[in-house]
Amino acid sequence: MNRNKREKEYYSIDVGDSTFMVLKRYQNLRPIGSGAQGIVCSAYDHILERNVAIKKLSRPFQNQTHAKRAYRELVLMKCVNHKNIIGLLNVFTPQKTLEEFQDVYLVMELMDANLCQVIQMELDHERLSYLLYQMLCGIKHLHAAGIIHRDLKPSNIVVKSDCTLKILDFGLARTAATGLLMTPYVVTRYYRAPEVILGMGYQANVDVWSVGCIMAEMVRGSVLFPGTDHIDQWNKVIEQLGTPSQEFLMKLNQSVRTYVENRPRYAGYSFEKLFPDVLFPADSEHNKLKASQARDLLSKMLVIDASKRISVDEALQHAYINVWYDPSEVEAPPPAITDKQLDEREHTVEEWKELIYKEVLDWEERTKNGIIRGQPASIGAVVRDGAHQHPLSTSYSSCNDITSSMSSALTLTGRPPEA
Ligand code: AMP
Repeated sequence: MNRNKREKEYYSIDVGDSTFMVLKRYQNLRPIGSGAQGIVCSAYDHILERNVAIKKLSRPFQNQTHAKRAYRELVLMKCVNHKNIIGLLNVFTPQKTLEEFQDVYLVMELMDANLCQVIQMELDHERLSYLLYQMLCGIKHLHAAGIIHRDLKPSNIVVKSDCTLKILDFGLARTAATGLLMTPYVVTRYYRAPEVILGMGYQANVDVWSVGCIMAEMVRGSVLFPGTDHIDQWNKVIEQLGTPSQEFLMKLNQSVRTYVENRPRYAGYSFEKLFPDVLFPADSEHNKLKASQARDLLSKMLVIDASKRISVDEALQHAYINVWYDPSEVEAPPPAITDKQLDEREHTVEEWKELIYKEVLDWEERTKNGIIRGQPASIGAVVRDGAHQHPLSTSYSSCNDITSSMSSALTLTGRPPEA
């Protein structure tokens, strides 16, 4: 495309401390959130005629951590297509050449709020179990594609007022170092499993721990294990759940084991004490039954030793969750991940810049040729769009509208779809 034509397609707008340079099809930008990678805005897409979310990745190749995460996210978002994982609608860069390349914009389906906002609400069993079911469906789909998340948290899970839920990111790369003996830097680790905190080997049910922490927070209204760093995080876990058995300690590497063995010993509390009846709606026989099922599920997810913790499949079959079971959601065919070395890649800043730039061009090429995931672009966009619309969904003009509407819809009027 010639330079002039390309320049005319974009306009620039200040959002908070940042400037967004976006395609003219996207209008009415408003900030709705920010994360480690940058600012996210809502916008109206005049071509798809719907509201979207636009995330700006500023110089994503600037260092190893940013680059790996941005590249991984871009590649995975292009491959994965499941109703409980956020869908990518467009990718673009306003810069015209590799030399000028700076920023990437990801256009996604717009949701109403993140789970941090929902945690403050009083949820009934129907909504709580439906939200958990969808988290588990999304996680199962990622696992089926060989992606183990390891870093699920409420800020990376978004919901709509009709109670539909999507996971926003793909977590830690297999090669990402974590662990007790690592230098702490500012990142939320409240939801990280013991095997991640202690730098042990892990399996798919590492993500079940995070779901357990999120569920506990939704029930309690406050963070279950609010550690200030990895060490404090571990203390919070053992104070409540008790010091793990010798059998577990034997699985730790020597230096971590020495540290863990030298902590004071805790007996922990029963799940009846940790999650007493008053935390659950218990006004009817039905609610009493559901409360005891919910507590049972918590007690099976929040198990320090992963070999004794419930699996994602078992959680999906649990009485509290399986009322929502739909094979088309649970057993959707896994996506094929095109880049097999995704997690192993190590590159210089210049190489990352080129790799990310190529991914953006590849998207532009595929959309231009009408191919999105093997479908003509128009069909791809319409099907994906339609599949996520719900009769209760509304259009919003501001972030406050979203949250206030969200609370009224979720707590008062909205109902999750019938099981
Ligand atoms: P992230 O940069 O992906 O960590 O997102 C930061 C925050 O922006 C999230 O916690 C959400 O509050 C918000 N957000 C991101 N993507 C979306 C989206 N597609 N729909 C609604 N809110 C979003």
